[in-house]
Amino acid sequence: MSFTIVCPHCGPRPATEYGFLGEVSAAVTGATLDPLSEELYFNDNIAAVQLEWWFHRYGCERWLLARRDTRTNEVHEVWAADESEAPAAEADASETPAAEGTTP
Ligand SMILES: [Zn+2]
Repeated sequence: MSFTIVCPHCGPRPATEYGFLGEVSAAVTGATLDPLSEELYFNDNIAAVQLEWWFHRYGCERWLLARRDTRTNEVHEVWAADESEAPAAEADASETPAAEGTTP
């Protein structure tokens, strides 16, 4: 299934131009291996709108943050990751539904 992501620098482009780097989560603190491995290899995989990292590899080669509905692939908002308006991971957690459609 293909969908479109509107890059703040390049405009609307097919999702195949981007690399998906996973959901945005709170930063891992501490240098022990277990929390870092957990962060890198185990995503929450929710069925809802979530904040995600994307890289425009066949365009401007910049990092983006996108708020995407994982059920429909509808992309609601996109920000350049280096912009001050880009949301932080903690801010997104309050908008994630806690019940319906989440996996245990
Ligand atoms: Zn771009």
